[in-house]
Amino acid sequence: MGEDRKNEGCMVCAKELEYLEKPVDVRCIYCGEEDQGYFICKEGHYVCEECHSKGAIDLITQFCLSSESKNPFEMANAIMKHPKIPMIGPEHHAMIAGVLVTGYRNLTGKGTEDDIIEAIRRGSKVPAGYCGLYGADGVAIATGIALCVILGSTPLSDKERSIANTMTSRALAAVANARGARCCKRSTWIVLDIAVQYIRDVLGVDLEYVPLSEIKCDYSGRNKYCSKEDCIFYVSDNTKD
Ligand SMILES: [Zn+2]
Ligand SMILES: [Zn+2]
Repeated sequence: MGEDRKNEGCMVCAKELEYLEKPVDVRCIYCGEEDQGYFICKEGHYVCEECHSKGAIDLITQFCLSSESKNPFEMANAIMKHPKIPMIGPEHHAMIAGVLVTGYRNLTGKGTEDDIIEAIRRGSKVPAGYCGLYGADGVAIATGIALCVILGSTPLSDKERSIANTMTSRALAAVANARGARCCKRSTWIVLDIAVQYIRDVLGVDLEYVPLSEIKCDYSGRNKYCSKEDCIFYVSDNTKD
């Protein structure tokens, strides 16, 4: 996968992706893996999740391991600006889990590099399209992952598991209340805001943040399905391509 990977729409030809209700037989154009897929471009190109996220996960991991930031928004915004991070994609799940655990570690001194790697690894396993196909947006699950890692929760944990699931449910409610088609940027900011609040309330840890009212989206021109005026982050000047 070279430098000519496309960052919007189909990764191969940049044409619009079709979002299917039922999966079809597909074959990844990069690694040849055969599967059933919900997202295929109008030219028939299909890219599996592993190939889609290749490069991005390494970038997110390196960024988080070397960052001293205590501000998950600042980290997410820097990561999302990088050309290896697509406009839309499950890379955002890994990123959200990663920046929350990184911010927590940098602020409190608790946790290890392995915790950051584990959060990113789990986030990278949350599939694309969960918001509209399974009714549980991966960005919200990513916040729950961050809390599981921070608290060292397992399926046998009591309080920790409860806290992590409450995190996910609050983030899901916030995503549900945002109007319009999926947007990974909008969802990222919304769930980071909820996560920072919840981590403050439940763990007494005050992560740095950017107030949502100060976030101005730079991505609307790259998102065909942008909700525009219905999105709190929309700035009309950015619609010109
Ligand atoms: Zn294509
Ligand atoms: Zn592949």
